[in-house]
Amino acid sequence: MAKQWTRRQVLAQMGIAAAAVHTLDPHELCCTVAAHAQTADKDLFELKKVADGVYGAIAATRFKVNCNAAVIMTDDGVIVVDSHSKPSASRAMYTQIQGITKKPVIKVINTHFHWDHWQGNESYAATNPKLEIIASQQTKENLTKPDAGVGGVPYIEKQLAALPGEIDKLKSDIQKESDPGKKKNLEANLQQAESFMQELKQMKPALPTRTVTTTVTLKEHGREIQLHVLGRGHTNGDLYIYLPKEKVIATGDALIDWMPFLNDGYPEDWVQTLTAVEKLDFTHIVPGHGDVLPKSHLTFFRGYLTDLIAAVKKASADGATLAEMQTKIGDQLAPKYEAGMSKYPVGRYRDRIGQNVEMVHKKVVNKA
Ligand SMILES: [Zn+2]
Ligand SMILES: [Zn+2]
Repeated sequence: MAKQWTRRQVLAQMGIAAAAVHTLDPHELCCTVAAHAQTADKDLFELKKVADGVYGAIAATRFKVNCNAAVIMTDDGVIVVDSHSKPSASRAMYTQIQGITKKPVIKVINTHFHWDHWQGNESYAATNPKLEIIASQQTKENLTKPDAGVGGVPYIEKQLAALPGEIDKLKSDIQKESDPGKKKNLEANLQQAESFMQELKQMKPALPTRTVTTTVTLKEHGREIQLHVLGRGHTNGDLYIYLPKEKVIATGDALIDWMPFLNDGYPEDWVQTLTAVEKLDFTHIVPGHGDVLPKSHLTFFRGYLTDLIAAVKKASADGATLAEMQTKIGDQLAPKYEAGMSKYPVGRYRDRIGQNVEMVHKKVVNKA
């Protein structure tokens, strides 16, 4: 499938070129995108039809990143996979869904526990008191553990603790900025950071009401939906939402169109798990971030993980220091992966390769 650039992606690319700003990893506390702050709430998601009644809701780049959603229509109501980083984003998603159907959202499925995939659950719960929120058992546990990683109820406090510093930095950057366009972006980012903080303060976390520990099939009216628990990968609780008839899979961040985020992951298991995913018969991937993808992207993405692990193991056996590995492996894998992993203004190859090398060294070589 040829890469089709959406209007929003093109604009985002232009924005990054014009503003020449740096980006920080959206999964971390500082999780900021320095440009493209102008997107109005109504433009947060682009609904892309991937099968009859099945959509990939592709998130626009925001200062506080939102994940994609998968939206699945059934005769009884709507099933939504993942709920973004905040209730205002999931409310915007809900408004877009209501433009297609007036049926209620009956189920939300969380692919994993990261902050940008579940913090909007509560707005769906507010629209339907009977809402079912489904996740793997491990994800449910992670959502309340203090040290599970970058997500969960305790992580809300960590974000709140970090935000005043981010806000101060934005204010000082605004003072220093002389370019009117960049200043305007920074001011919009400041406004978003302040409203994000207000939303976090008022958050009423809506946690899973139903969990799965192994693969199960939901027989929804007019639709078969399989929930696959296939092993550790991006986290220890990844859930894959697979529609066998429509040949569509929603993967959360276990398969994305950015560089993978390994900090809460299991690199070697991840490769095996993706091989299990590959056995399913699908043509369209709704990934956690980036655009709808063909099945061939799995091979590319898994290839990166495999090559990264091999390179770190070899460099380590050769006695390289971590800093040496980060530089050398970054350059070594670039010809094969840099372009394909750098399609968007966030999560690009050079943003993450150093951290990826460090994580593989820690988790695979040192077995931490
Ligand atoms: Zn994510
Ligand atoms: Zn994630």
